Amino acid sequence: MIATEVKKRDIRQLTQDEIKDFFVSIGEKPFRAKQVYEWLWKKSVKDFDQMTNISLPTREKLKEHFAINHIKVDEMQRSSDGTIKNAVKLHDGLVVESVLIPTDTRITACISSQVGCSLDCNFCATARLKRMRNLNPDEIYDQVVAIKEEGEHYFNRPLTNIVYMGMGEPLLNYKNVLKSIEMITSPEGLGMSPKRITLSTVGVPKMIKQLADDEVKFNLAVSLHSAIDESRSRMMPINERSNLAELADSLQYWYQKTKRKITFEYVVWRNINDDEKHAKALAKYCGKVASKVNIIEYNPIDDGEFQQADPAKLDMYKRILEEKGIIVNVRRSRGKDIDAACGQLANKS
Ligand code: SAH
Repeated sequence: MIATEVKKRDIRQLTQDEIKDFFVSIGEKPFRAKQVYEWLWKKSVKDFDQMTNISLPTREKLKEHFAINHIKVDEMQRSSDGTIKNAVKLHDGLVVESVLIPTDTRITACISSQVGCSLDCNFCATARLKRMRNLNPDEIYDQVVAIKEEGEHYFNRPLTNIVYMGMGEPLLNYKNVLKSIEMITSPEGLGMSPKRITLSTVGVPKMIKQLADDEVKFNLAVSLHSAIDESRSRMMPINERSNLAELADSLQYWYQKTKRKITFEYVVWRNINDDEKHAKALAKYCGKVASKVNIIEYNPIDDGEFQQADPAKLDMYKRILEEKGIIVNVRRSRGKDIDAACGQLANKS
């Protein structure tokens, strides 16, 4: 790079009003901002020259000042069950992954919110990457657009759901994640219903309360995995900083404000949490928080201590929870043959 070259601003970091200010400053009509904004978000163009209703000189001005830091799907892998995993290259060369999960009724996009993760959950492959940086709103948005296009192309079906369950902890990239959801749900963006979006978190109590105060309209899922502090802290070190009681307190606050149940994600591991003591603790915890439970199948990341429990243990969990009137789903995992399943995203390919 030439030393004098000025780093151009990512235009999608600007609000529509800021783009308007820019146009006014160069003597252009303010209404151009709306047109440009539409090209950038709704139409997801990758280049200023695709903005055909903007004059050539104005496009040149835009190019002088700004860049469109569009993501690039570097590699796409397809699983035998239909799941697609994208390795997504960011403008600075870093890579994240996102996944398209097809079922009979849905096309779901599982997207990343950070490059790597800072949380050190012992069972998760992404944890081994460490956190490199937060994703910008447009980088999160672009992952959704890429999967939406793949859904249309390969399955001839529209995108129906989005889960923030890829790499990273969304609540530790709060502002950008919320901005991305704002654009995904806005008529100026993808116009999707927030009811079809789920944010999954390890559970950061302060930020869960913040979500409730911000009156968000999307769904919340919490990766619980154990309702006993001692064992949860062993798998998820964040539990030492904010324990289960604090978490429950924040979730009660969430329910009070939103009136929407949360989903607990829960993996049952052999000899770790596959006993009745853990199942009963979970049932008791669910009694305190308006919730339902998704028991998810573990996708081994190595042959270490964390291995999937026997099916009989899952039945035991189901029985104990259902006896207490708790809704429980047992979920099979998808995309395992391409390392696209939960917790397997680690930029291996
Ligand atoms: N940081 C967020 C989102 C990413 S993880 C969170 O923790 O919720 C998405 C889900 O996959 C979480 O429930 C996580 O606990 C789970 N997970 C992680 N590794 C897994 C693995 N190897 N097999 C199955 N689920 C896993």
